[in-house]
Amino acid sequence: MMLRAISSIAALLLIIFALILTWHFWPRKIDVAAYPVPNYETSGVNMDVQKMGNVRLGYFSTGHNISPEAFIYSGGSLIETHTSVYSGMVVQHPKGTFMFEGGIGGDVAAKMQRNFDSFQRSIFTYTAEGTAREQLEASSLSAADIDFILLTHLHWDHTGVIEGFPDKEIWTTEDEFNWGRDHGSGADGFFPEDYLKEELHWKFITFDPVKYESFERSLDLYGDGSIVLVPLPGHTAGSVGMFVTLKTGNRFLFIGDISWSQKALDIPAKRPPLGQHLADKFDEGLTASLVQLHHLKRKYPELQIIPTHDEAAFKDVERLRNW
Ligand SMILES: [Zn+2]
Repeated sequence: MMLRAISSIAALLLIIFALILTWHFWPRKIDVAAYPVPNYETSGVNMDVQKMGNVRLGYFSTGHNISPEAFIYSGGSLIETHTSVYSGMVVQHPKGTFMFEGGIGGDVAAKMQRNFDSFQRSIFTYTAEGTAREQLEASSLSAADIDFILLTHLHWDHTGVIEGFPDKEIWTTEDEFNWGRDHGSGADGFFPEDYLKEELHWKFITFDPVKYESFERSLDLYGDGSIVLVPLPGHTAGSVGMFVTLKTGNRFLFIGDISWSQKALDIPAKRPPLGQHLADKFDEGLTASLVQLHHLKRKYPELQIIPTHDEAAFKDVERLRNW
């Protein structure tokens, strides 16, 4: 009798578990038709490649992990794997050189211990590949060549770069900084110990009321249209995106963590529920940003929209180690 009761409970628990898994991995697609089609009009920003400065990008990865695609975006395969990278890039323009993102730092394990619970530590695993500072110094450049650090947002896997460049100006938006200062905690994916330090120098990005593609505001970084920053809220309070046009005509839009996968933008789809729970705080803004990126990708098939953590998406970006 007892055995039968136990096996019935076990069977029930198994069914509940299977239902939860099915619910979690069930493909969910954003209904693009429910949102207005953005209008495109670039005003006041140079679009002529001939008149742009020569920009060079140097990609590097500070660490990676491999997981099924289904963990990365809703509708992703449970069999195909996705390589997530904690990436960064050196961006060189005739008028300046900066680091865009920069991945995890050297003491990330200790920081995880202090800021994450055991569940988060089991989810956010990584194989380290060397910090941004180490990889910069292994190239023909050094820290002295870097003018500032530009972060798309202040999550832990982006602010790790700060420890290697404590004297450099750090660029983010004021919305992002204020949210991170007032609410950021390990539970939300922030390591305040990385960015709440007296000695750091912040510069808050302010967008001009200049329309660029489907964005109402933009910041033309060096005034020649080669590097244009745009607001991309949703994942966090004040996330930023960066358009880059190379002399070759190759055009990129780096989107931080609005999505973890380039493939998700075609659908478009968000992260699966667990990923959303761990990473996203502003669902309405995130949906709007994903719809906007989906439209951009359709309008400009040659535009390469690159999430910070999608290794495959960086295939056409030069490697810093070759500099
Ligand atoms: Zn991230």
